[in-house]
Amino acid sequence: MPLLQGRSSSPNACDGDLIIVQEKYNALTPVVLRAGSFLNNRYGRFAHDDVIGHPLGRRWEAKSHPGTGSGTQACAGFVHALKPTPELWSLAMFHRTQIVYPHDSAVITLFLDLRPGQVLIESGTGSGSASVAFARAVAPLGQVRSFEFHKPRADAAQKDFRALGLEHVVKVTGGVDVVKQGFLGVNDGEADAVFLDLPAPYLMGEEVARVLKPNGTVCTFSPCLEQVQKSAEMFRKGPFHSVRTVTAPVRTYETREQILGTPGFDELQESQKDVANPALNDESSRHRKRQRIELSGSTRRKLKTAGAERLEMADKNDGRHDGRVIRVAARLHSRPFSSMKGHTSYLTFARRKRGNVKASPNNGAGPKLLLG
Ligand code: SAM
Repeated sequence: MPLLQGRSSSPNACDGDLIIVQEKYNALTPVVLRAGSFLNNRYGRFAHDDVIGHPLGRRWEAKSHPGTGSGTQACAGFVHALKPTPELWSLAMFHRTQIVYPHDSAVITLFLDLRPGQVLIESGTGSGSASVAFARAVAPLGQVRSFEFHKPRADAAQKDFRALGLEHVVKVTGGVDVVKQGFLGVNDGEADAVFLDLPAPYLMGEEVARVLKPNGTVCTFSPCLEQVQKSAEMFRKGPFHSVRTVTAPVRTYETREQILGTPGFDELQESQKDVANPALNDESSRHRKRQRIELSGSTRRKLKTAGAERLEMADKNDGRHDGRVIRVAARLHSRPFSSMKGHTSYLTFARRKRGNVKASPNNGAGPKLLLG
């Protein structure tokens, strides 16, 4: 089942399809299905034939697994066979370069206003992570035309796009330096949007203005503010408007189950505050402080273990133990980590002004754009 249904109309996995195998929550591997073949990993030996002809998104049981018969402890013996999405692909793919991650490509897709049927021009292709996300947005009739300086990297990306069933949506041109040669083969005003993930996007203003439709949108992806300043300056001087820079950092939340009688995040935080607070000197405060110190230490661990045991017992015995109903209450706590770890880049957007853009000689310094 290709990503965008390009290869077959069947809802089931087919021979030759690329799927994503999830071994555990953070271990994803791309696998191309071949009739009669097996996938071997630490969870066992998996027959491709058990997936071919069936819907994806299901558990894939091992035919045999490493522990069987050898006296050693058996492994889980299953993985999950998943349909590729741009999000899963960006986690499973082989990284040949830095890549654009889903939280950024989602914001770029939104602000570039990408829709089915549109033409997006992109450079560089890199590992193809962004191209796949954009391909989903413009498919089935639209196109991503991607330019990459490094020919072997371009070829490898094109191979991936074929495996994902995206060969009709993404076209890669390899071995082209877009700064020097421009978007070869792209006509004036052909693109609805342009995406630049290059070391010097600020040198591309004229070429971007040439290929963009009036009111088309461009985005530059820059890791540092110096690049952002140069790009914004280029857009302000050129035939562009509505220049803005955004960043889409990931905020990670820690989520925990609190079993009744054990401290949650807030209590733990409070107890830590009290321990550190020298102002708590009166008798009752000292008592509270002592309790909290205890609670924040081994008592907390004991309570947690006891709670977990009760929960397990209740699960096993239909909620009963020694004839009594066991009541175990649990609730979920979730709070963000205070540090921000997901920042990758700044996204600078601009829109091309309406009207025709004409190139004119500029004292030997290359063409200068004029709005006609
Ligand atoms: N957006 C890509 C992704 O999500 O996988 C990653 C792009 S990677 C960071 C930047 C790519 O731009 C590299 O593969 C590099 O070879 C290419 N590149 C750099 N300068 C270029 C130029 N002048 N013309 C074409 N490609 C260029």
